[in-house]
Amino acid sequence: MSKSQNLVVMKFGGTSVGSVEALRKVVEITQSAKKDWKHVVIVASAFSGNTNSLLKIAELAKKGDFAAVEQGIDEMDVRNQGILAEFIADERKREQALARLRPLLEELKLVCQAVSVIKEISPRVSDLIVSFGERMSVIVIETILAEAGVRATAVEATELIVTDDVHQNATPLLAKTMKKTKQGLDGLLKNGIVPVVTGFIAASEAGQLTTLGRGGSDYSAALLGVGLEADEVWIWTDVNGVMTADPRLVPEAKTISKISYEEVSELAFFGAKVLHPKTIRPVIEAGIRLRVLNTFEPENPGTELTAGNSENYDEEPIIKSVTAIRGVQLVTVEGSGMLGVPGQAARFLSAVSKTGATVPFITEASSEQSITFAVPVAYTECVVTALQDTLAEQIEARKIDQVKTTDEVVIVTVVCPNMQHRLGVAGKIFSALGEAEINVLAISHGSCEVSLSLIVGLDAMQPTVQVLHGLTAV
Ligand code: ASP
Ligand code: MG
Repeated sequence: MSKSQNLVVMKFGGTSVGSVEALRKVVEITQSAKKDWKHVVIVASAFSGNTNSLLKIAELAKKGDFAAVEQGIDEMDVRNQGILAEFIADERKREQALARLRPLLEELKLVCQAVSVIKEISPRVSDLIVSFGERMSVIVIETILAEAGVRATAVEATELIVTDDVHQNATPLLAKTMKKTKQGLDGLLKNGIVPVVTGFIAASEAGQLTTLGRGGSDYSAALLGVGLEADEVWIWTDVNGVMTADPRLVPEAKTISKISYEEVSELAFFGAKVLHPKTIRPVIEAGIRLRVLNTFEPENPGTELTAGNSENYDEEPIIKSVTAIRGVQLVTVEGSGMLGVPGQAARFLSAVSKTGATVPFITEASSEQSITFAVPVAYTECVVTALQDTLAEQIEARKIDQVKTTDEVVIVTVVCPNMQHRLGVAGKIFSALGEAEINVLAISHGSCEVSLSLIVGLDAMQPTVQVLHGLTAV
């Protein structure tokens, strides 16, 4: 591995900075990275729970409940103080950090007070309120690192990452971000200082604070990695990388040592929320090595994300990973009058899309007499109503018999390396399920080379995942 820049970007998520124990690990990890790398850049999330607390505070402000707002803000203040007290014995130094945090808390209170008077909140103001989580955490981290002898400087990413002005889910402007990131961090890096950059937040071209959407700190790390032409980007989280299954469902689940961008995208989509594809893509495309590591078990090698799929399929198991998403129901439209009628699926899905429901699974009978798709449980009722309205004429004319729904079901997705060119993969999967007497309600194996999804009842979720996980070792 050539280290052209000798630069690593390390992102620490909320749980990795949310407790004294976690922060001790952050210090150790940073000290050790500083030994191995010339330049180290840290991207940090808000302390775990703080983003949610801030969103709750924003809601309370909107309701005009300023007393509750103040209580929430004071709790964050107490948390900061408690953490600093654990790390910094010298009262004067602690006071210096608190003197930098206090204006932030005051500003937060002022913004919330204004909201509680007008009882209205815009996405822009919501972004501003939520930004205090990251803005406080980087000051605490800088202070703790400095105490441990690591020269560090807190940096607000509003100075580095440039986005459009879509608040709460802004899209970065890459060229501008690259330029500003280099300009903004070069000086610190040249002086051997570790920049501790806020994740999640950015600024529009006009200088308004924006956020990159929930969980956006990974994306921040990716952008800084690309902007600084880093050699590696490490995402430090609270699990050992991407696992073969959710360990809560399958206790023997293991870490996958290498997984491709394409494969992991299927998992992210189906709920393995380790890394969002949006984060991975720019890093991989820039040829930067991307790893997911566990702050609480730093010696574990974690998972490496690779650009292409493995070429040695014979060495790969039949299934690389299995995930389940709950909380969906199947909706089926049936009728003999659907045969050979162009545009049926388009009509159904357009009616569904108007309800705002996403459709994570679709399958159609080749007889063209039934189409089944999954929608989130919360949307089922309005989806059925929308379909009945749209199809009223066809139902009346008996061309469509019915729109029916199931109870809650589960989408189980398996990632199978190179499935298209490997014989017997589906056979092995369904034999294993058959032997375990699991009833599969629907299947979708799209043209995508790497995954297959099937629907089972809620009761069958655990055994299905368990049985399929058995194939990760074959
Ligand atoms: N603090 C933000 C959130 O909780 C961003 C992040 O953690 O990645 O969504
Ligand atoms: Mg987070």
